[in-house]
Amino acid sequence: MGLTLIVDEHGLGFDGYGIGDALEEQNLATIIGWVIDELTEDRPRHLLGISGPDDLFVSIEAGADTFDCVSPSRVARNAAVYTWRGRHNITNARFRRDFAPIDPDCDCYTCANYTRAYLLHLFKSREILGAMLATIHNERFIIGLVDQIREAISGGRFDDLREHVSGRYYA
Ligand SMILES: [Zn+2]
Repeated sequence: MGLTLIVDEHGLGFDGYGIGDALEEQNLATIIGWVIDELTEDRPRHLLGISGPDDLFVSIEAGADTFDCVSPSRVARNAAVYTWRGRHNITNARFRRDFAPIDPDCDCYTCANYTRAYLLHLFKSREILGAMLATIHNERFIIGLVDQIREAISGGRFDDLREHVSGRYYA
């Protein structure tokens, strides 16, 4: 699939637009808003470089359509896992004998087959499988969150979902 160049009123001529760089997290909405004001509405706006769940809500509200970011896999390689009740480091000693999945509400391969205690063991043993399993989980978490946001937008419940997710994640 090649890139089709269509010259729009701004003369940029792209099928979609990528927005990204080292965006200041506290000014994310303002910066995205400035950029999106300059773009046509009929092309997708792709944002690079989100990190936590709150960034997704802020960016979507500001007008971003699609995303990608190394953050879910990068933090996973350092044993940090996203859960609906916040971000945790799976090597914390409190998980040593914790035989629950990373997140009981998650339907990913890792959560279906492995425990927090086993993930801790893998990271402590420097087994690459730990990073792989944590990455699978974090990627699923982000995909699941975006699925929920998409449904909430369709149902007019975006603000309710944001409050619900943020209330649990950042509590
Ligand atoms: Zn999972």
